[in-house]
Amino acid sequence: MSTAQDGNSPAHSAAPSPTTDERMSARVVDLRSDTVTKPTAAMRAAMMAAELGDDGFRDDPTQLALEAEIAALLGKEAALFVPSGVMANQLAIRLQSQPGDEVLVHAASHILDHEYSGAAAISGVLLRPLDSVDGTLPLDAVAARLDAAAADRSAPLSLICLENTHNDRGGVILPAGYAEALAELVRPRGVRLHLDGARLFNAAVATGRSLADLAAPFDTVSVCMSKGLGAPVGSLLVGSAALCARAVRVRRYLGGLMRQTGLLAAAARYALAHHVERLADDHRRAARLGAALSGLPQVNVVPVQSNLVRFSLGAAHPLRQTATGRADGLVAQLDQAGVRITGDGLHFRAVTHLDVDDSGLDRAIAALTTALTIGLTASLPGATHAI
Ligand SMILES: *Cc1c(COP(=O)(O)O)cnc(C)c1O
Repeated sequence: MSTAQDGNSPAHSAAPSPTTDERMSARVVDLRSDTVTKPTAAMRAAMMAAELGDDGFRDDPTQLALEAEIAALLGKEAALFVPSGVMANQLAIRLQSQPGDEVLVHAASHILDHEYSGAAAISGVLLRPLDSVDGTLPLDAVAARLDAAAADRSAPLSLICLENTHNDRGGVILPAGYAEALAELVRPRGVRLHLDGARLFNAAVATGRSLADLAAPFDTVSVCMSKGLGAPVGSLLVGSAALCARAVRVRRYLGGLMRQTGLLAAAARYALAHHVERLADDHRRAARLGAALSGLPQVNVVPVQSNLVRFSLGAAHPLRQTATGRADGLVAQLDQAGVRITGDGLHFRAVTHLDVDDSGLDRAIAALTTALTIGLTASLPGATHAI
């Protein structure tokens, strides 16, 4: 790779930048997100060999092949490649609602918590949150909203969005049969269903169910190529041919038309061929990390179902005996030890992915165990168990 043309490298730098990259990745175990993966050498080779066209004329052959492949995998008519998962979700909302409508979402959903006010700004809809611990929208609460809309006691209800796996609830998988039951309830009322499937491949590998089966109850689905699958950029909106044709026009004015997209689509196609089954390794490692953390006093771990490990610290944990009551220094302390996670001092997240192997995980478990047990035996009242 040419250093001179790499926007991140100073033009005068003589050594190729991957050297720094490689040294960093040997030292740091980056569990902040499954978005941090870098394309492998084989994926980069596939990108360089890609046949290209122009997405603006809808004739990039590699992108079209990716779209056909994803549509077939999910059992839908069509798919459209877009720059991000946020854009795929926002297109789904824009194309399946009218300004002034109500859209039901989970209270801790990506669409509500991590896409800013996009649904209000782009689609003019009210996002109505409903809550649960397992990522479902309780059917009785949905029925109450349907009744309110039908009786003109609230805005028209046009769309319901679910998330699988559910990020903020700890990578949990929607319970079997739930989406089917929801579809049965809302279909007769003319309400459409969208699935934020940024990590749908994780759900499929973890459950052994097909992507088409998981997608069947939904009118539209978004999937991310840049999460656990390890491609650098890109998501797809999947649905009917008519909806995807309309999505092309809205994507244009949102700025999501990207020209020689085959470079990115080739990475995504490579990921589909080589990085799906291996998600089971990420799940196995996440389960091992979750089990190790569960064994530590005053550490509460959300049961691990896929590649996300969420944990919090009990009020009696020594790290929380601070002015704020938060374990403010934990993330920085781990960073010093070469292990990166995210957290706000109360809740923490560690994510396994393509660039974390068994030895990296061992180092992460050792660093977390050290950081989370310092001072424990001394300060916990009545703590007698050795750590
Ligand atoms: C990552 C993610 C998205 C999309 O994020 P982008 O950064 O826009 O690709 C959407 N939904 C969920 C649940 C996610 O985790």
